[in-house]
Amino acid sequence: MVDVIIIGAGTAGLSAAIYVQRAGKKALVLEESTYGGQIINTADIENYPGIKHISGFDFATDLYNQAKDLGTTFAFEGVVKIENCEDEKVVYTTKNEYHAKAIIIATGMKRRELGIEREKELTGKGVSYCATCDGMFFRGKNVAVNGGGNVAVEDAEYLTRFCKRVYIIHRRDEFRADEAEVVKLDGKENLVKVMDSTVTKLNGDDRLHSIEVTDKNTGETKTLNVDALFVAIGQIPMNQIFSDIVELDERGFIKTDEECRTSAKGIYAAGDCRVKTVRQLTTAASDGAIAALNACNNL
Ligand code: NAP
Repeated sequence: MVDVIIIGAGTAGLSAAIYVQRAGKKALVLEESTYGGQIINTADIENYPGIKHISGFDFATDLYNQAKDLGTTFAFEGVVKIENCEDEKVVYTTKNEYHAKAIIIATGMKRRELGIEREKELTGKGVSYCATCDGMFFRGKNVAVNGGGNVAVEDAEYLTRFCKRVYIIHRRDEFRADEAEVVKLDGKENLVKVMDSTVTKLNGDDRLHSIEVTDKNTGETKTLNVDALFVAIGQIPMNQIFSDIVELDERGFIKTDEECRTSAKGIYAAGDCRVKTVRQLTTAASDGAIAALNACNNL
């Protein structure tokens, strides 16, 4: 039995662990893969207040060590089920069963991948899932954004400010993004819309140097010489296993109040997995602190 079980060792989960331990309580972090979450894929973080430059890996490692040095226990096991009993919470993993007084769910989101050859290999070497994190590395270069939602359209607009040419590739002839965002692309001389098309091939040895796109109507393929491809085809929360315990919205995000409280007493949600509009490193850390302090105050 521990005080708080934290599910997920990303920025929100690790921040929560730091706050739980510093409150004099005992935290157990359960993580199915490695520590760090999505930020581990970011080459250089430049927007975390107080830190001018740090790699995603170093940031995550510092956070992990900070939580560990404060006495956090870690178990690298995937959670398969939680139970909300009257006087305790039970968390089942692929290997064990753990008991706690409170739970903080900090499972983040999983990016939707293109699912084409070499995508994993070239991630961080031209293929990116975060234009705001990595865009600046491609100042003055030709880049492409794939997707038609708000994220893709906003990314494309942002990149036109400092990249030489920006291709936005979308699988339909109409963007899904809000009109208010789409009109911001009008008149951008360095923006090229590649509609009704999908990215079908990634070229490059140790770095991306071009992509192949296929027109879904004609079947024609063309090569675009780009140094970066920003994949923005949506994100997927991974909250389904909690859906019988906490309330989710229609897209699968956990509903909370401002104190990170879910619909189930003693169960909190922090970071990207909960319903919110701003999903940044800073807001993940903030959520971790809020959830942890509320969990500890209500044990
Ligand atoms: P999204 O709205 O779900 O859009 C994903 C886009 O990717 C869609 O255009 C979709 O095409 C395309 N897509 C999906 N799977 C694909 C695949 N396998 N291959 C190629 N294209 C694929 O996701 P998002 O842009 O990440 O936004 C997530 C949510 O956050 C949305 O609700 C969005 O409105 C919200 N958001 C809002 C703002 C804002 O209000 N300013 C800013 C950012 C995000 P189809 O259109 O053909 O389905």
